[in-house]
Amino acid sequence: MNKPVVAIVGRPNVGKSTLFNRMSSTRQAIVHPTPGVTRDRNYIEVSWSGIEFVLIDTGGIEVNSHDSLLQGIRYQAEMAIKEAAVIVFLCDGQDGVATQDIEVSRMLHKTFQPIILVVNKVDNILREPEFISEFYRLGMGNPIAISSIHGLNINTLLDEIISHLPQYKEISPIDEDTKDERKKNQIAVAIVGKPNVGKSSLINTILGEERMLVDNVPGTTRDTIDTLITWNDKEMILIDTAGIRKKAKIEEDVEKSSVLRALAAVKRSTVSVLTIDCNEGLTEQDQKILSKIEERGCGCIIAINKWDTRPLDEETETLREAYANFIREQIPYLVFVQVIFTSALKNQGITRLLNLIESTAQKHRKLISTGKLNRAIEKACEEIQPPTIKGKQLKIRYATQVKAGPPIFSLFVNQQTLFTPAYSKYLMKKLREEFGFEGVPIKFAVKQK
Ligand code: GDP
Ligand code: GDP
Repeated sequence: MNKPVVAIVGRPNVGKSTLFNRMSSTRQAIVHPTPGVTRDRNYIEVSWSGIEFVLIDTGGIEVNSHDSLLQGIRYQAEMAIKEAAVIVFLCDGQDGVATQDIEVSRMLHKTFQPIILVVNKVDNILREPEFISEFYRLGMGNPIAISSIHGLNINTLLDEIISHLPQYKEISPIDEDTKDERKKNQIAVAIVGKPNVGKSSLINTILGEERMLVDNVPGTTRDTIDTLITWNDKEMILIDTAGIRKKAKIEEDVEKSSVLRALAAVKRSTVSVLTIDCNEGLTEQDQKILSKIEERGCGCIIAINKWDTRPLDEETETLREAYANFIREQIPYLVFVQVIFTSALKNQGITRLLNLIESTAQKHRKLISTGKLNRAIEKACEEIQPPTIKGKQLKIRYATQVKAGPPIFSLFVNQQTLFTPAYSKYLMKKLREEFGFEGVPIKFAVKQK
């Protein structure tokens, strides 16, 4: 086998074979059994974004019946460590961290291969933070939440897998070590929106800025070009989703590919700029992209472009405010979204847009100390008392930020059912004000303790 091997490892019943089968049936992944391998069932060839690998379900490997469970798992892990270029460590989000997961993680900690921690059975992705927060303690980095049964986030997992493969690294011009270091400080910006709203024009205007240093780098997929720019000494990667449409011929294809393109770009971004045409307003397609932005947890700015086409007498602060409110009213569930007016054609609002991207990215990766966080929550609870249901009042015992980029806060409460959506919304608003998380989605992982 010359293609790199990717192994799925995990204790029984976490869903390894379900995931394996799901990957076999994912539409864009070209999958066929590897010839010459006797245990066909457990090996498949996968091709994703033009990169090929062999996927092994180590759980399907037969172990002697008298072997204990732990021996079975150990065998899987050893096999993966020996053969695999990338290891997918699968856990069960509904069970939480199990003792055997800790055993597996101990074995895997000894290896040098990249390990992708995946939390399966998160059938409702909106509740992702709740399910994944405790998996951070395995010390394997950010978990990816998926549902193998419902096919949720499988594409994200495939993207993550190929990003660790040797073929992928070959096409990446920057040395991996420095790349990771640089990546941490880089702001990935997705410029998304419908065709003809002015995305390419915005990018061109940005690149035309005098203060701009520009450098082209190949994107992660074969047909995007990312542009590296430097703004206020910060590196930004502009992910261009516009150029591609020139390839699509039929109108319908243009629409469809622009959505797919947008979703892929959003996934890679720290901050997404949804561009709309002020004469058109927010469309259904935009709403779809916005909900993806929220789901992915990136910072969000809506650029209301072509503002120069409005009659001159509308060019007042009040009218801008009215237009911004008109947009916001259509997305009441996305309170964190920021709105800015631009004209790519007249080069208006571009500096403000770049500054806003920069400040949003900073907030996105901000960490709040546990002390400060708990004081802010205490204060919020004093201002508006937590809800009482059937004589029992919600108590928030302790809070801590488990993750930045986007911020996820774990809240330990006396009873989960008392933590009402209204109170959750209130607390988010308070934290957003207190710590300046404008433009950034906040998530709570609520635990009963
Ligand atoms: P394996 O032993 O790790 O290969 O696990 P299986 O793939 O046999 O799955 C174990 C059980 O978990 C089966 O009943 C599956 O239907 C179930 N399962 C697998 N993936 C999911 C999922 O994404 N969501 C839910 N709710 N159940 C799942
Ligand atoms: P894309 O498909 O989103 O990349 O859109 P383009 O950048 O190709 O722009 C589509 C059309 O809108 C072109 O004719 C542009 O000249 C025009 N356009 C883009 N931005 C502006 C703007 O700010 N004002 C005006 N009046 N026209 C614009």
